[in-house]
Amino acid sequence: MYFNNDTLVFLDGNFVKADQAGCSVYAQSLHYGYAAFEGLRAYSTPAGTRIFKAEEHYERLQYSCQAVGLPLAYSVQEMTEITYKLLEKNNFTDAYIRPLVYAGEPNMGIKTPDTSNLFIAAWEWGKYLGDQCLRLMVSPYERPNPKAVPIEAKISGHYANSIIASADAKRKGYDEALLLDMNGFVAEGPGSNFFYEKGGELFTAPAGSILQGITRSTIIDLAREAGIKVHERFFTPAELQEAEGAFLTGTAAEVVGVSSIDNHVFEKPFSATLGAKLARKYTALVTGQAAGQLVGEQEV
Ligand code: PMP
Repeated sequence: MYFNNDTLVFLDGNFVKADQAGCSVYAQSLHYGYAAFEGLRAYSTPAGTRIFKAEEHYERLQYSCQAVGLPLAYSVQEMTEITYKLLEKNNFTDAYIRPLVYAGEPNMGIKTPDTSNLFIAAWEWGKYLGDQCLRLMVSPYERPNPKAVPIEAKISGHYANSIIASADAKRKGYDEALLLDMNGFVAEGPGSNFFYEKGGELFTAPAGSILQGITRSTIIDLAREAGIKVHERFFTPAELQEAEGAFLTGTAAEVVGVSSIDNHVFEKPFSATLGAKLARKYTALVTGQAAGQLVGEQEV
């Protein structure tokens, strides 16, 4: 699914066949989750293939590396250019892009490395959480304590928490987990940010225990442009009992509706919520369609 015999990936300065790219089983990153990554998307637009907010994503990658002391020898511009080349070499127009900065040298110590490796792969990927509305479960697993790890950095090791919480929710019959922070406030999904709607306004967790998603800030901008108030503030799961709708956002998931949280089922169908309206605006933005020009859309 991620590659075939012809797929090319970028690895440390070269484009190589995906099935020939490898790393040592003694690599420090593999043992300790000490690596930084990103997730970007390219879309086919009237102006050609365009990576959505490439600069923001690669700046976040630089920030993530710096936050944990992982060297990164590439500039934002170099990584952006490499990514466009990678898409071209693989003939991709719409694709998900996964850069990974890792410490690939055999090193079983816990000293920060002097060098790192840069891997970038791309593949065609539908919306990560699908198109259907999701049944969320408030997870018994909290987001990692921001005083223990730089939680606003996208570090591989943080995702053990995401995998555990998501698998637990699925095992209990839900589609996805919703994680709280260490103070009991709602934080985010395992790989996406969370918004809820009440009284024509939107609420989302503030910075602190979340990854400040690029999709999250895009949605906040689109909402404010449309005259919708967005509150970035702490809220408890009990407050969600009064929510009228909710959705998750992320580069991989894009904007996906939520149909219920624990036992609380939203009365309004997702299509009648602010989330659906913003999902249309998001699609129009990332695909470079001017307002009102999306085929089959009444209102964008
Ligand atoms: N939170 C977490 C934990 C994530 O992994 C992601 C995906 N990167 C997001 C939020 C959404 O971030 P973005 O919109 O930048 O993809």
